[in-house]
Amino acid sequence: MHVDIIILGSGIAALQTARLLPKHKHVLVITKGDLRTSSSYIAQGGIASVTQPKDSFASHIADTLAAGVAHNYEPHVNNLVTDGKTALDALITQGFAIDAHVGLEGAHSHHRIVHAGGDATGRHLTEHLINQLPSNVHIHTHELAYALLHNTAGDIIGVRTTTQCYFAAQTIIATGGAGALYTYTSNQPKSFGDGIAMAALAGAAVADMEFMQFHPSLLYKDERCFGLVSEAVRGAGARFVDDTGDYFMNGQDLAPRHITARAVYERRAAGHDVYLDISAIANFEQHFPTVSAICQRADVPLSTQRIPIAPGSHFLMGGILTDDVGQTSLRGLYAVGEAACSGVHGANRLASNSLLEGLAFGMRLAEHLAQAPAQTNWHLRHAPVAPNTALLPLEQLQQLMMQHAGIMRSGLTLQQLKNKLPIIHQIAPDQAELALAHVTARLIVSGALARQETRGAHIREDYPQQNDALSNRLLIQQQHTIVRRTWHEFIQTTAHAERIFY
Ligand SMILES: Cc1cc2nc3c(=O)[nH]c(=O)nc-3n(C[C@H](O)[C@H](O)[C@H](O)COP(=O)(O)OP(=O)(O)OC[C@H]3O[C@@H](n4cnc5c(N)ncnc54)[C@H](O)[C@@H]3O)c2cc1C
Repeated sequence: MHVDIIILGSGIAALQTARLLPKHKHVLVITKGDLRTSSSYIAQGGIASVTQPKDSFASHIADTLAAGVAHNYEPHVNNLVTDGKTALDALITQGFAIDAHVGLEGAHSHHRIVHAGGDATGRHLTEHLINQLPSNVHIHTHELAYALLHNTAGDIIGVRTTTQCYFAAQTIIATGGAGALYTYTSNQPKSFGDGIAMAALAGAAVADMEFMQFHPSLLYKDERCFGLVSEAVRGAGARFVDDTGDYFMNGQDLAPRHITARAVYERRAAGHDVYLDISAIANFEQHFPTVSAICQRADVPLSTQRIPIAPGSHFLMGGILTDDVGQTSLRGLYAVGEAACSGVHGANRLASNSLLEGLAFGMRLAEHLAQAPAQTNWHLRHAPVAPNTALLPLEQLQQLMMQHAGIMRSGLTLQQLKNKLPIIHQIAPDQAELALAHVTARLIVSGALARQETRGAHIREDYPQQNDALSNRLLIQQQHTIVRRTWHEFIQTTAHAERIFY
């Protein structure tokens, strides 16, 4: 089947791009669950945007860079903050209903978290964008994409799914992050980084895969995680406390996530249970209906004023390297949202900047594709596909990732884990999703092994210090080799040449 533009995924990034693409383009959205199966749908906290008189773009940019630990690409952070506000304002003008109260979250200097429906912002935003999809956008649900198609020149000309091959001049990966590679995660349970794996296997440059953000507060009971207790809960006055009654963050409960997640991890590793003390929050159920529902599901009565928590994987800062409009290092291939690595998040994402990223960069990509280049070479390059072999069962993969590529890492155990992960060159249809999960896991482990320092969300026990020589140095993985480049070099070269890393 031929269309103009293919979008893989149906989260915020995909929907924002799809609705803004030119109406004469035949756009096909392919998503592996139903339309509403995404991390976007369960996002709670909100959308960071400058709305208050005392706040400014400069302050939002400075907070983003500080959280990112000198690893962000500042021009793109600028795009995120300014275009994100433009995109959000446009949505509000078109009828997206936001709450009156603007919230505060970790590492933000001002109240700038815009909510919709209290802590159900992701659901409200997703529904709003779905309602805005024009008739040129067609949707195929419950269809897993697992391999990109090349023409004989090496450009991407479409995708192979569990049902057929689709051809398009532009293929957009908006398949989200990879939190579900870990036993404990806030993510939607099938967030395996499929699109990142597909792009890497197709030869696209992938970077920053070592930077997986762990959220300090997932509701944890009976050795299970039940969902996220949003940072907004601490923004409203909740505090970390352990089973001895020690408020161990000493007033720094809203410190950046790599700091709070590490502190909670260390408390728990020392044998303590950790809770969020919510006693300072009046009318909790009214303010946090989603968190209250999670508590109810886990049978944690709010009357105890304590929610048991543990840290878990939450957000992948790395992904497919993109420029300021979502172009990857392969012609015909674009990426947007959590699957992309545009350098906006650096080594650690600032809370509530990722829904904003989907809105800002979805808009930028859609505008760019209004003048999309045509493709004339539709000759498919055939590649032999061997069966997927030596795959670990998913649970075992998740446990190994949690133990060895989780909050604290060390070279020895990362190497042992890497040795257990098969090198995969092509994905066969059988067990395709599990095979893609292995590819993403290997990218994370390889990145974590190669970055011999501690920076932001990447904590190496054997390299506990930040190494200034690695500030703003990307570890670009391409076809299993790792190249070090700065953002500046990457942007310059992609502006003047195509497929430079191929
Ligand atoms: C519980 C939770 C709370 C959060 N709260 C906030 C918040 O308050 N503010 C904020 O800014 N961010 C928040 N985040 C992060 C934010 O929600 C995500 O980073 C963002 O929504 C990602 O959007 P996306 O469109 O890139 O990907 P997703 O929303 O993850 O969507 C990916 C889509 O791709 C589909 N897909 C995946 N693989 C394939 C495949 N092989 N073939 C076809 N389709 C595929 C999936 O089914 C899904 O539809 C939160 C995340 C979680 C998990």
